Amino acid sequence: MSEHYCPNCEEKSFTWSIDEEVSLNTVWNCSLCGFQAEENESLESVCESCGTKNNIHLKSSAHNFCYCTHCKKQTKSGEW
Ligand SMILES: [Zn+2]
Ligand SMILES: [Zn+2]
Repeated sequence: MSEHYCPNCEEKSFTWSIDEEVSLNTVWNCSLCGFQAEENESLESVCESCGTKNNIHLKSSAHNFCYCTHCKKQTKSGEW
């Protein structure tokens, strides 16, 4: 499984998994800092900053935000 940059600690230790007993959404987890967030895959969009389709919509316990796993750009997102 490939590892991505974590939006919290910015280390390349962010991975995703699917466990339907926990959530129907993809769950992202950082093995380094323990940051965890759910992804809404129906809201995938193009990153405004780098133009790639790596902009994902995440929901952590603290807030909802969009995050680009390619250029690490974070933007605000509404509730979902
Ligand atoms: Zn982290
Ligand atoms: Zn980007």
